[in-house]
Amino acid sequence: MAIEESENGREDMLIDGHKHGNVAVPDEFNVNYLKLYYAKLFPYADMFKWMSYGNDGKHPACDKYYIGRREFSFTLENDIYIRYQSFNNVVQFENSIKEKCPFKIDIGPVYSVDPAKKNAYAQSGDNVFTPVERELIFDIDISDYDDVRYCCSGADVCLECWPLMTIAIKVIDTALRVAAMFHPVTPPPHGSIYRHKVQRRGMTLALNTFYGFIVAGVVSIAGSVMGKQEGKASCKLLTNEQRAAIADYFRVYKGNENSSKKVSLTGPALHPFLVRSYSEVLEHFFETRLLLSQNIFSTEDRYEKILEMIPDNSATSDLRGKWQTKRGSKEDINVARWEQLKKALQSGKYKTQGLRRCVEEIVFSFTYPRLDMEVSRHMNHLLKAPFCVHPKTGRVCVPIDPNHCDEFDPTAVPTLSQLFEELNMGGTRAYDDNEWDRTSLGQSISFFRSSFLQPLLKSCKEEMESSYKAKLQQSKSSLSW
Ligand SMILES: [Zn+2]
Repeated sequence: MAIEESENGREDMLIDGHKHGNVAVPDEFNVNYLKLYYAKLFPYADMFKWMSYGNDGKHPACDKYYIGRREFSFTLENDIYIRYQSFNNVVQFENSIKEKCPFKIDIGPVYSVDPAKKNAYAQSGDNVFTPVERELIFDIDISDYDDVRYCCSGADVCLECWPLMTIAIKVIDTALRVAAMFHPVTPPPHGSIYRHKVQRRGMTLALNTFYGFIVAGVVSIAGSVMGKQEGKASCKLLTNEQRAAIADYFRVYKGNENSSKKVSLTGPALHPFLVRSYSEVLEHFFETRLLLSQNIFSTEDRYEKILEMIPDNSATSDLRGKWQTKRGSKEDINVARWEQLKKALQSGKYKTQGLRRCVEEIVFSFTYPRLDMEVSRHMNHLLKAPFCVHPKTGRVCVPIDPNHCDEFDPTAVPTLSQLFEELNMGGTRAYDDNEWDRTSLGQSISFFRSSFLQPLLKSCKEEMESSYKAKLQQSKSSLSW
């Protein structure tokens, strides 16, 4: 994650503006707006329901201490971090946020004991404070794509390079839904490393946070690698080792700034999941969008970067020769050169082994999701909470619908100032349940509820009910002895 810029002097200007009765709404982040946001718009109840995973005290099998063991972390103004906070009910949660007005809210793991009391436990000599559950998270930073985008760099993003994030969502979401590939089998039957088995559907929450987007695979991507405790199969219970195994599964991209070859696809055949990602998502995206939007072959600097990925000197010098001379074709230069490259590598004319595979390697290096592995690997990494506000852009961190991620426009995500303009324009309407229904945040909250939270809670209840029944059964049968 990039370090955010702190004070930039802009705030004084804005306060000045207000003093002089300037009614223009400032675009940037503003602490008074943040207070107003927490007072009127932040969806406390939905967030708290999510974090409770159905442990709401209503079912006899639920764990009423569950939510109290979850860590929340706040970042206050001037980068003051307050970690290990916990809340037993939504009123405490809401009051604390309103009082502290955090610039950033992060979600930590669920610990073995209440994290707020961790020091007390340490003093008592029982060293029992350890993380036991956390969502499985894939974190992707747009700044890690700077070598394959020419429109923006760093944290900046535009509509030309955002599609790199869109296809990352598609690839990861597909993997989480299928979830079959997380099922290792020893010994591998017929050379395949993973057994394919129909599993329960994974639940994916894609969050746009503007310095990277985060996909949190939240519930029940069952399988033998999945953590199993008390009969539950949920990705929240994965150990660090299991998380690392899953993250490594996505690890095709192994590049660094100094190596020209970013991706190595080895073995006699591509894994079925990679074949599927390639043929359903990556190839089409590369050829119809990225090639043109980033002008990947348009200059010598750019095409040389691609030629470096080809391990055959005569192939590269033939292509270079073609591209250095003038061309007569009316076809787009990027499309023409890509076609020439594919034709050459697939011709069988050159001696180097595996040249055909090189076409796929180039596409993978430009398009395959580049994960921040450390975030996926460890339970005690923090996840930036949905619906918090980015302090630099003033934009709200909203969920993206993985089924409609092509339609998501990062430049249209509401900013605080926009939300308050909308609130003011709408006037007061007594019949609205929630103020956010009068703003463009309303859509994001109702998507979060209907596509993520409600199905999640339904599946939690079902799981709770079935484990409860199983326990009853067990105690009956032991009684009958
Ligand atoms: Zn861009």
